[in-house]
Amino acid sequence: MNIACIGGGPAGLYLGILVKRSSPDHDVVVYERNRPADTFGFGVVFSDATLGHLAIADPESHAQITAEFARWDDIEIHAGGEVLRSTGHGFCGLERKKLLEILQARAKALGVRVEFEHEIKSLSEVTADVVVACDGVASWVRDALAPELAPHVDVRPNKFVWLGCTVPYRAFTFLFKQTPHGLFRVHAYPFHHDGSTFIVECREDTWRAAGFADATEDQTVALLEGIFADELAGHRLIKNRSIWRNFPTVRCGKWHAGNVVLLGDAAHTAHFSIGSGTKLAMEDAIALRDELVGRPGGARDIPAALAAYEARRRPEVEALQAAAQASLEWFEGTERYMRMAPVELTYSLMTRSLRVSHASVAKRDPHLARGVERLLAAKVGITTDPPPPPTALPFALGPRRTTSRIAVAPTWGTSNAATVVPDDEALVALGGAATAGAGLVVTPTLSATALATDEAAVRWSRIVDFVHARGALVGVKLATGATAAAPTPPAATTASLAEAGAAATGPGRSVAPRARRGSFGPAHAAAVAVVTDELYAAIERAVFAGFDLLVLDPGDDPVAIEALPAMIEGAKLIWRATPGTPVSMVSMQIPLPTTPRWVAAVVHDRPTARAAVVGHAAQLVRAGADLVWVSSPGDGSARLPAAPLADRLRNELHVAVCVDGDDALLPDLDAAIAAGRADLVVVDRMPAGARRA
Ligand SMILES: Cc1cc2nc3c(=O)[nH]c(=O)nc-3n(C[C@H](O)[C@H](O)[C@H](O)COP(=O)(O)OP(=O)(O)OC[C@H]3O[C@@H](n4cnc5c(N)ncnc54)[C@H](O)[C@@H]3O)c2cc1C
Repeated sequence: MNIACIGGGPAGLYLGILVKRSSPDHDVVVYERNRPADTFGFGVVFSDATLGHLAIADPESHAQITAEFARWDDIEIHAGGEVLRSTGHGFCGLERKKLLEILQARAKALGVRVEFEHEIKSLSEVTADVVVACDGVASWVRDALAPELAPHVDVRPNKFVWLGCTVPYRAFTFLFKQTPHGLFRVHAYPFHHDGSTFIVECREDTWRAAGFADATEDQTVALLEGIFADELAGHRLIKNRSIWRNFPTVRCGKWHAGNVVLLGDAAHTAHFSIGSGTKLAMEDAIALRDELVGRPGGARDIPAALAAYEARRRPEVEALQAAAQASLEWFEGTERYMRMAPVELTYSLMTRSLRVSHASVAKRDPHLARGVERLLAAKVGITTDPPPPPTALPFALGPRRTTSRIAVAPTWGTSNAATVVPDDEALVALGGAATAGAGLVVTPTLSATALATDEAAVRWSRIVDFVHARGALVGVKLATGATAAAPTPPAATTASLAEAGAAATGPGRSVAPRARRGSFGPAHAAAVAVVTDELYAAIERAVFAGFDLLVLDPGDDPVAIEALPAMIEGAKLIWRATPGTPVSMVSMQIPLPTTPRWVAAVVHDRPTARAAVVGHAAQLVRAGADLVWVSSPGDGSARLPAAPLADRLRNELHVAVCVDGDDALLPDLDAAIAAGRADLVVVDRMPAGARRA
């Protein structure tokens, strides 16, 4: 078989090595436009797991790579004049130039033809059974085959520049430097005993204000040496094609077309803050070698091999890209974490990719995990030692308080907005979650017509009482957008709350006819007007039933999403009437609630329109939402896919947030609370091991 690689970076060279190593008869040529020693960048980092794969794939190059390693265990965070060190992480890395030297020499020794200074400009220049496009992040091959490969390049807003420095860092070092122009972040790590990588990142407005927009490479270095004079302490920054760039996240619908296949950065990128680009490129090469020539029985059908390579690699790459996305968003919004205590900031940074759980932090750095647990517990007045785990802590908002941070929104039967009725199944599902230790239980999304009768309100009130008696608060989630028509609950459709009230129990609950809209003064009439009659009646009945929390969910109905802020204002007037508000609850003859109830709004994430989603959430907060409930469709590749948005809303808008936990495990939920990404996590059943403090 003839294999031609366009690009002599880690991906192309390593594929050549592996193919020749397992099948010397195959012919491999690598075309590289640069000279052997021309490379940009400084150090690359590897994890232990990757090294294990490299050791099996080619022990010779693995031995040479590891012999060159700089190794370190710690992460150091410098912010606001304080330095915090976290231990037990374990990294190793080497100079990119050294890595390429090793791979080039090994490729040559195995008979790979590496043609340096040979730029391929068209696919017609290459004749081979398989053409491997490993031409890096700016791959022109990917662009040339765009109709088949469906590439998507997401150019991120932050500016970054990759430099070296002579500081012999002994830890993965993050510098957060506040300047009059804004905040700079530095990712610095050693690559040999007297040299370190020094990547500077900042927001575009900071970059412009600091004068980098028109700066030459030398001016960039000089300006940065000035900004980091204290940290560099006389050491110099080193340039190497150190041009300010924006990170492009590359994704492709397909990685192969005909006999052409994408490998490494050409197919996908993952933000440098998780240090995985080279690892992915080399692991791609292992998988492609296996599928092309590594199968028992010899070579296989090429299109089938390329499809098998993609099928094998895609899930892992997408999971890593999801982690990288969460990580890059953390660095894009670092400003919002700067008011955190150092221990919280460290924890948040450490868990930013959402792949490091609380249990994992506790294993690597028990001191950090315990420190953040103590801080969180102290904030709610708990001083026991050891402190409770983060999800076991109470959460207070106004005068109401949950007994744990876990909210359970169970589903039962065929429950959906249109069909949920407050029957025995509802009692078992919600009451069972409360008994199991949830701090809050929430109904599935109800259509307003599911609370259209007094009989339904009375039935719900019994469930609410049952849940309260088991120490949990209870919320009702109402659809505000278009839903399928709900069947009216069967019995007592003509009974008024007054008639049904004979059966209702609970302190201060009397029943009465519904309030009329006229009871709102002119100042509030407009807000209440957006609430449909059905929703209005449902909210009133929910008040009667004793729910603590009203969650308004517009679903994906654009009209309902737009109306949500006004709907919050209106719903609050009906729902959260307190003495002093002009809502005439007296006309309902229901005693004025003295404890304000919470009103929450659901925000569905749209990662591609994140700024608009954040703007919408800000409107909801201004309209008076006490809590924002963040949900995300996710694509199965991220743990807690709603967490990045939840984190942003909580720390940017300073609003209480609950986040859909999907089927996340308890240690991930603990990490979400401990890192300050959410106040409450919502799951559909109590996770194993969860408890109340
Ligand atoms: C700031 C920063 C920090 C990073 N840190 C890390 C890290 O810590 N760890 C890590 O693993 N990765 C890191 N990376 C990513 C890493 O550099 C890449 O992911 C990795 O090099 C990908 O390997 P590749 O072979 O696919 O592409 P590349 O290394 O980009 O190689 C592509 C090669 O193709 C050649 N080429 C392009 N077009 C042609 C053509 N038409 N004809 C011939 N040759 C061509 C190029 O000259 C180049 O040599 C970082 C990246 C950045 C930007």
